[in-house]
Amino acid sequence: MKTKNRKKLASLLRPYIKVNSLVSKMFRNLYPNFSYCERCGLPWSLCNSKAVDYSENSGTFATCDYCFEKSTLEEIKIYYTTVYKKQESCLRGTSYKMDHTLEHLLKCVERDYLSLHGA
Ligand SMILES: [Zn+2]
Repeated sequence: MKTKNRKKLASLLRPYIKVNSLVSKMFRNLYPNFSYCERCGLPWSLCNSKAVDYSENSGTFATCDYCFEKSTLEEIKIYYTTVYKKQESCLRGTSYKMDHTLEHLLKCVERDYLSLHGA
């Protein structure tokens, strides 16, 4: 299936996809090479990730744009914290270090969230 059609299918199914549901798990089994949204669990092949820029050239994403819009700021911060910790633990034992702090990332998340939700 073409990416455009897949995303269309996923957006039609969207109302039925509960937070991290069996449907999302099924989709993840179809696309095991993609990582996925921390909230709904859909792989990135089926949804658009919401990137939060933490510097001029770098960004990170924990949820899709749909979930970013539907979550509270507190929830979003938890998702981004989880992803940050995952990234941090992937780097453990290598010579790489995170180039930004969690505190800074969460400030950027809050900035994007507030600008999207018009607070
Ligand atoms: Zn999502």
